[in-house]
Amino acid sequence: MQQLVFATNNAHKLEEVDAILRQAQDDSRIKLLSLNDINCQDNIAETGTTFRANASIKSHYIYNKYLVNCFGDDSGLEIDALNGDPGVYSARYAGEHGNHAANIVKVLQNLAGVTNRKARFRTVISLVWNGDEHFFEGTVEGTIREQLSGSAGFGYDPIFQPDGYNITFAEMSLAEKNAISHRAIAVEKLVAFLNTL
Ligand code: IMP
Repeated sequence: MQQLVFATNNAHKLEEVDAILRQAQDDSRIKLLSLNDINCQDNIAETGTTFRANASIKSHYIYNKYLVNCFGDDSGLEIDALNGDPGVYSARYAGEHGNHAANIVKVLQNLAGVTNRKARFRTVISLVWNGDEHFFEGTVEGTIREQLSGSAGFGYDPIFQPDGYNITFAEMSLAEKNAISHRAIAVEKLVAFLNTL
């Protein structure tokens, strides 16, 4: 069995990827490990200015330090009328890391009176497998609502309405969101690649 580290401390993300991996693997060739599993408590600084760069920083940090196959991810919201912001700064758009309520307020303020509300969530995964790097990307297009709606999910979910729906991500069940989300699309591409190894 091959081991593969997911460079994250987010238990929810790990569970999500593990579920897709186990579903898609006909056998159990790959065992997914968290940073905890390899005793890594390091805080890997996301100093890149693109999703690709940040995902790559995480995967290479772990690969170089622990010599294990590894992938890292980075995601965020890109709003066309804000020139792609909040982008890589999605988690800390209003200053404090992870203050989702303040981030949403800032987005809605910056979009006040703006009619072009097109946006997308993007996820980039960088996999380092036996020293070679492979990228996998997922996007979901949508629009930014004028007001919050729904209480499920996290982050910008209450103001993001995916194209083809008249509800926000925060009004969807987890299964519904995971069927179309940027993260799920990127993870499925990663899993399809792992299945070819
Ligand atoms: P991460 O790189 O996946 O940790 O995402 C960084 C930030 O992007 C999060 O803190 C959220 O603000 C935003 N974000 C990423 N994915 C989602 C999502 O599925 N829903 C809402 N916000 C998200």
